[in-house]
Amino acid sequence: MGKYFGSNGIRGEANKDFTLELASTIAASAGKLLGEKIAVGRDGRTTSPMFRDAVVSALLSVGCDVHDFGVITTPALQYMISRSDLEGGVMVTASHNPPQFNGVKIMYHDGVEIPKKLEAEIETLIDKGGPKPCNWDKVGKVSFHDYVEEYTDAVKEAVDYTGIIEKGFKVALDLGNGAAAITAPLLASKLGCQVYTLNSEIDGAFPGRGSEPTPENLVDLKELIKATGSDIGIGFDGDGDRSIIIDEHAEAVWGDKSLSLVAQEFLKEYPGETIVTPVSSSPSLEKVVAKYGSKIYWTKVGSVIVSRAMIDNGYKLGGEENGGIMYGPFLPVRDGCVALALMLHYMVKRNKTLSELIAEQPHLCKDKDKTPCPNLLKEEALKLLAEQVDAPEINTMDGVKLVYEDDSWVLFRPSGTEPIFRIYAESSSPERVKELIAEHKKLVKKVVDELSAA
Ligand code: MG
Repeated sequence: MGKYFGSNGIRGEANKDFTLELASTIAASAGKLLGEKIAVGRDGRTTSPMFRDAVVSALLSVGCDVHDFGVITTPALQYMISRSDLEGGVMVTASHNPPQFNGVKIMYHDGVEIPKKLEAEIETLIDKGGPKPCNWDKVGKVSFHDYVEEYTDAVKEAVDYTGIIEKGFKVALDLGNGAAAITAPLLASKLGCQVYTLNSEIDGAFPGRGSEPTPENLVDLKELIKATGSDIGIGFDGDGDRSIIIDEHAEAVWGDKSLSLVAQEFLKEYPGETIVTPVSSSPSLEKVVAKYGSKIYWTKVGSVIVSRAMIDNGYKLGGEENGGIMYGPFLPVRDGCVALALMLHYMVKRNKTLSELIAEQPHLCKDKDKTPCPNLLKEEALKLLAEQVDAPEINTMDGVKLVYEDDSWVLFRPSGTEPIFRIYAESSSPERVKELIAEHKKLVKKVVDELSAA
């Protein structure tokens, strides 16, 4: 974790921790280091037009030409950067955070968020007060660009759209008042679907169900699926990269299971490919991909880490347990629209319903919990915890992951953004999951209490 950058960009409460001055210094520093042609986009937050203006002015002041895409999802902006000669981009968004937040995600010329090394260079420049502005006659120009048709056509063409169109699926979309309202319904129409939408008006207060889709707050979407007889439902976050998929019986699909399904079908189309996923994902994925002679490349937790690992090693599929799918043949970043298109693609290819495809995946119960830990104690706590645990397999790549012989596992790791430890567990029975969480929560709490008292 950097001084300003979190696990995905820089975020804070607007006009409190994330100020116009900070946004401007970040953008000028990024522009200076990235190149002369920079893309800018923003989500639908109330404060996003304000921050967009600061970002554009700052980029112009250091001599960058700005290509403004207006209101856009993060993955659509990433796609437009990757398929052009743009040298980088700044997306004004706080992703799934509550409405009072805002921030920026900085993209590299390949469309993926910038590597850690560049984050560190930007932070150094920020600490020096940002780069010097250029001479008046070197100030950049702004141009405005559309993306909607090009992007949605590209997603459509990444899958077997003829087969999907023939099926005439019914699709329910909860757009969460976010930027995906521009792209997802159009994509679904282009795929010949009958489209039903919820919260389709972009609104920075996120009045519908908040900006973060969770299996719990997608109640209305579940009702819409039942009422319309939809084949699939999908809920998007504020900037359209994360999504939660719901099957035709209105059951939420855990990210591990959708990833398992995508990995299985992907390996039939791309035999021998390695699948990239963080240690928070289920080890059962290893068995799924082993059937196809493939293996998992485990990483630390964080979508950017997965994307960068895909690029650095030339791997084509990545995913996270929270529902992020990175489909390399399109772009190795999370994209809710691509996730929707892929699900429809596999439903056609296998001629099965979504719930039937999900039922083929390993069935394990899973849960998450958290317990407080001051940021300053996290490192020491983790060290002590690693010494106190015992299991047949212990993985300390990110936090401590214990894998038992009965396929149960538990992972506890300090959060990168909050003063807490997260605890994940999975097993064949819900009782064992509860037990694993309770036991390890107690252990983490004991260690943190001892350190706090010392
Ligand atoms: Mg997001």
